[in-house]
Amino acid sequence: MDDKRNAAFFGKHALERAIALLFGQDVRIASKRPVYGGDINEAYRLSLSDGSAVFMKCNTLENLSFFEAEARGLNALRRAGTIGVPQVLGMGADEEKGFSFLLMEYLEAAPRSSQYWEIFGRELAALHCADCSGLTGADGSLLFGFAEDNYIGASLQINTPMDSWIAFFRECRLLPQIQMAEGYLDSRMHRQFGKLLDHLDCYLVEPEAPSLLHGDLWSGNAVCGPDGKAWILDPAAYVGHFEAELGMTELFGGYPAAFYQAYREVNPIDSGYRDRRELYNLYHLLNHLNLFGSSYRGSVEKILNRYI
Ligand code: ADP
Repeated sequence: MDDKRNAAFFGKHALERAIALLFGQDVRIASKRPVYGGDINEAYRLSLSDGSAVFMKCNTLENLSFFEAEARGLNALRRAGTIGVPQVLGMGADEEKGFSFLLMEYLEAAPRSSQYWEIFGRELAALHCADCSGLTGADGSLLFGFAEDNYIGASLQINTPMDSWIAFFRECRLLPQIQMAEGYLDSRMHRQFGKLLDHLDCYLVEPEAPSLLHGDLWSGNAVCGPDGKAWILDPAAYVGHFEAELGMTELFGGYPAAFYQAYREVNPIDSGYRDRRELYNLYHLLNHLNLFGSSYRGSVEKILNRYI
């Protein structure tokens, strides 16, 4: 099946043709069961007539670009080979029935291993230490960004490759979100953002080396896979500073101490990270403000007041 993975299928019976190519001409979808927990797409466990199972996300035709971007992110993370990432099987759009879809390996739930958090911490740190050359462009140079733009939730995430992390975080992370949030900001916040962007190099540091990041690693995007270990899902992958990823893991509650302790053993965390993490999370909070509305304005303002 290897060479058939990641193909795109279009037109009449695109989904059925994808299944037949991947699993065999006689294989059909026997039944489908909804999988809940996502916030953008419909998700299903497809049971196939040969006894196997496939995970499918689907949405409107226009959503295909989200699935293509998700597949690119999953493939980059999986290629690093350090942590569980589901195998993308295929994608496509059935224009006649009016839906797009993404197919991937179905992760059967299993109990967490006793070392779940330690292993997760170590494997994420190994991802952040893995070679990420070539992910931002064809020439293999080490830049920040990603070969293509993708999405953070439902928002466009700009990944224009740059050789400075601080410039990248300013131009491709904060600035687009601040521009989108225009209607939520008063004149004081405007001034504060202006100052912050002008002096970002007083607050952030360039990493020793770029890291491939999952990009949206809140707790719902890591699940226990069939091996009892953490598998990461639904990425907004790009090459950046690993501290931005750690900040996101702490944004909505954080992981247990065992995770961070194990992480540090593989990839040490500078003590200055504590002063930087809220700035990294400003990006995600601005995105939440733009996607979900003014209930996130207070958190954005609090961070601005802390720095400016
Ligand atoms: P959305 O794109 O809508 O945010 P998610 O990626 O969060 O969707 O996935 C929806 C649900 O499906 C979540 O509960 C998630 O844990 C589960 N899920 C995601 N990928 C797989 C997979 N490969 N196998 C099994 N369950 C999965």
